Amino acid sequence: MTELYDVAIVGAGAAGLTAGIYVSRKKLKNLIISVDVGGLTNLTNHIENYPGAGTQPGPDLMNKFFEEAKGFGSQFKYAKVEKVNKQSDGTFELLLEGGEKISSKTVILAFGSLPKMIGVPGETKFLGRGVSTCATCDAPLYKGKVTAVIGGGNSAVEGALELSNLATKTYLIHRREEFRADPITLEKLKASPNVEIITNATVLEIIGEKKVETLKLKTSFGDHLIKVDGVFIEIGHEVKADFIKGLVDLNAQNEVIVDLVGKTNVPGIFAAGDATINPYKQTVISAGSGATAALECYKYIMGSKAILSDWK
Ligand SMILES: Cc1cc2nc3c(=O)[nH]c(=O)nc-3n(C[C@H](O)[C@H](O)[C@H](O)COP(=O)(O)OP(=O)(O)OC[C@H]3O[C@@H](n4cnc5c(N)ncnc54)[C@H](O)[C@@H]3O)c2cc1C
Repeated sequence: MTELYDVAIVGAGAAGLTAGIYVSRKKLKNLIISVDVGGLTNLTNHIENYPGAGTQPGPDLMNKFFEEAKGFGSQFKYAKVEKVNKQSDGTFELLLEGGEKISSKTVILAFGSLPKMIGVPGETKFLGRGVSTCATCDAPLYKGKVTAVIGGGNSAVEGALELSNLATKTYLIHRREEFRADPITLEKLKASPNVEIITNATVLEIIGEKKVETLKLKTSFGDHLIKVDGVFIEIGHEVKADFIKGLVDLNAQNEVIVDLVGKTNVPGIFAAGDATINPYKQTVISAGSGATAALECYKYIMGSKAILSDWK
């Protein structure tokens, strides 16, 4: 007979790992299914706004979350969830990449988001060989090199600023005239002598032999080639929610619609973190919403027998 979990948690970032800690402490049998451990927090070298944790590399903080979840009793499976189905008996079936099926009384969705790509030739080919989606993580690799950052929001401008301290030259390429980034950061970037800002420009192709060598741009003055060693795509993140489409209500950005306690439209399915409509995408917020969703999930499973003060 297939094993039935109390809770299946999709995603092992801050939200999923915290949910794991909370449901484990309520003695619920839980399985965290995730492609990796740590999620996007792993991408930051210095997380300094997780209260009480001081400044530390994101992966170190996430490893502590992981050890705690495991220590309290969460089980882990490293796989991609490809589909969630509601069964006629009210339980859920999760289909994993490779064909395995997991059965659970409840599901907590904590699958975060993924960096958006621009979709030009060369982008996928050179990912990890000159193309990066995280300036904060990969900037140190480009000391003394020429770099380009694509985007116009805070992560692009902050990334370009960080790169300008290491690279000999940094281009910031933005498809519009106006920037969404905070004016104060943009001013700092404009004051950097080794930064060139190119507006109203789109990337046509990322060119190279074995690694990135050239960027082909379309500007209002025609097409241009610029020599670069690294291209940083910083155009935001997207929520990949195809595996729950049709079952769970999503907004136009594919974010899971939740109420204040993480309930979705489907009784028994909860959601937390960056994957939800919560507008503030931060590690501490994901952790907090993971805890909230876990407590609500416990209440759903236990009904009137639920003891809700978690510190007992
Ligand atoms: C470069 C960078 C720097 C940042 N710096 C900070 C900072 O300094 N401070 C701060 O508070 N926040 C920071 N953030 C934001 C923070 O990282 C996110 O808010 C946080 O990681 C969200 O946690 P989460 O658990 O909701 O999602 P994620 O961390 O995105 O975790 C989601 C998890 O789900 C898994 N997953 C996704 N889909 C599936 C699937 N179908 N099946 C199985 N598993 C799946 C993923 O592999 C991942 O493990 C930063 C983000 C970036 C990109």
